[in-house]
Amino acid sequence: MSLPADYHMHTPLCRHAVGEPVDYARRAVELGFSEIGFSDHSPMRRDDFDNWRMRNDQLDEYVAKVQLAQKEFPQLTIRLALEVDYLPGHETWIRELTARHLWDYLIGSVHYVSESWDIDNPAKLSEWKKRDAFEVWQIYFDRLTLAAESKLFEIIGHADLPKKFGIRPPQDCTPLYEKFLNAAAKTGVAIELNTAGLRKDCQEIYPSRDLLQLAFQKNVPITFGSDAHAPGEVGLNFADAIALARSVGYTQQCRFKNRQREFVTL
Ligand code: ZN
Ligand code: FE
Ligand code: FE
Ligand code: ZN
Repeated sequence: MSLPADYHMHTPLCRHAVGEPVDYARRAVELGFSEIGFSDHSPMRRDDFDNWRMRNDQLDEYVAKVQLAQKEFPQLTIRLALEVDYLPGHETWIRELTARHLWDYLIGSVHYVSESWDIDNPAKLSEWKKRDAFEVWQIYFDRLTLAAESKLFEIIGHADLPKKFGIRPPQDCTPLYEKFLNAAAKTGVAIELNTAGLRKDCQEIYPSRDLLQLAFQKNVPITFGSDAHAPGEVGLNFADAIALARSVGYTQQCRFKNRQREFVTL
């Protein structure tokens, strides 16, 4: 059995990752991967929207960096992708942006529950104290549902990101998961098993076993990602992610090329 592709990795262009794509690729080869994909944080319409993504004028440089890695590591399949922030109302912009290049897949992620609060930003951790956790989860999953319905993306990123800092609402979140997963099942968008959660306060893969179990029941396809922000994080904890996927029943995962999906045995 070969390792599933690591489809979620970043580059220094987002200003909070280290190591060039060639360094991530070298590490992936060392670990025995046959396929990876770069999905760095995409630009916003306004470059001053926040400070943790590439600027608009760096998109070509990003593509060139990934292409350099493709050239230097011909033995490794390297996909070109983006992690795109989904915010309601940004759909036209997302279409304009993603039309600037050909991508193998797009990961749609919700980090913002308003135009100004990115819930996973450690600098804004105090915001959580001012808010009701369940309300945040509701807004987050409403947005994630819209992202799944939008047909803009092949994969939805870290589906239960609000748990990052270990703050969880006491309420049952199953209805929120259901609504999102019904939308995902309808449009065929995949969700990722993102191992970065194991490196955060929540100490758990995104998404939780409960959410993943429901996803399997609804036939929602899966991919895998380390969300590496350094070469040393490539493929981290993939054994745990594979075990989790298998334990809820998954026997297949998917890969993408030119935004076309193919199923592979897990
Ligand atoms: Zn990041
Ligand atoms: Fe993200
Ligand atoms: Fe990421
Ligand atoms: Zn991410």
